[in-house]
Amino acid sequence: MFRLDGKVALVTGGSRGIGRACAEALAESGAHVIINYVKGEAAAKEVADGIIAKGGKAEIVGFDVADSKAVETAIEGLIEKHKRMDILVANAGIAIDGLLLRLKEEDLDRLFAVNVKGAIAATKAATRAMMKARSGRVIYLGSVVGEMGNAGQTAYAATKAALMGVAKSVAREYASRGITANVIAPGYIDTDMTTGITDAMKEQLNKLIPLGRTGAAKDIAAACVYLASDEANYVTGQVLRVNGGMHM
Ligand code: NAD
Repeated sequence: MFRLDGKVALVTGGSRGIGRACAEALAESGAHVIINYVKGEAAAKEVADGIIAKGGKAEIVGFDVADSKAVETAIEGLIEKHKRMDILVANAGIAIDGLLLRLKEEDLDRLFAVNVKGAIAATKAATRAMMKARSGRVIYLGSVVGEMGNAGQTAYAATKAALMGVAKSVAREYASRGITANVIAPGYIDTDMTTGITDAMKEQLNKLIPLGRTGAAKDIAAACVYLASDEANYVTGQVLRVNGGMHM
C-alpha cells in the first residue's frame, strides 16, 4: 500500500523540517523527489544525497516561491525534463508572529506572497502536466491556527485559512481531470519554525493537546504519503488534521 513508484514529486521548501520529512517519506515510498530550496542549497543537497544513499531518487531545485515567474520557469523545466509531475507538496511557508497592533504591512505582504501566492503559482504550473496525465495530487500545508485562530498570529492564520479555500477550489476545478487537492493541517510540530516555543509554553500547550505532546515532522510526512497515494483517490477538498487532537 501507498507505493509511489514511477511518480515524480516536487516538495517546496523541502530542505528542512516538515518538507524534508515529506521528501524523505515520498522517496522511501518510491517517488522521484525534487527538493526545492530558496536559501538552503547545502541543506537541500544533503537531503537529496541522503535519499540517494538509501537507494532512492532525488534532485534539488532552487527558486523563491514568492517569485511567480521563477516558479513557473522552474516547474516548466522540471516537467520538460521528467515529462510528468505527479505530486506537488506546497510546503514552503514562513511565520511572522506578533500582536496585530504591531503588524507591519510589509510582513503581511510577505506572508501572503510566500504562503498563499507561492502555493497558487506552484499549483498553476504543476497542474499543467497533471491535466495532460489526467491524474495528480496537490497537497498544501495549512495549520491548526488556520481553523482555530491564534493570538499573535492574525496574518499567519489568515494565510493558512486561505489555503483551505485554495485547495477546495482546486479540488472542484480539477476533479474531472483526476487531480485531487487537499490540505494537511498540522498542530504544533517540532521544527525550526517552532524553536521559539519555550519549555514552559510547551508544557501549557501540551495540556491543550489530548495526546499530550507536540508532533514530529514524520507524523505529517505519513499523512503526506497517504494523500499522495492511489489509495487516497477518493479524497479531495479535505483538511486532514494531524494535531494530536488539539482541534477536532
Ligand atoms: P521550517 O521553517 O522548518 O521550513 C519551512 C521551509 O520553507 C524552509 O525549508 C524554508 O527555506 C522554506 N521556504 C520559506 N520561504 C520560502 C520561499 N520563499 N521559497 C521557497 N522555500 C521557502 O518550517 P516547518 O515547520 O517545516 O513548516 C513547513 C510548513 O508547515 C509551513 O508551511 C508551515 O507554515 C507549516 N506548519 C508548520 C507547523 C509547525 O508547528 N512546525 C504547524 C503548522 C503548519
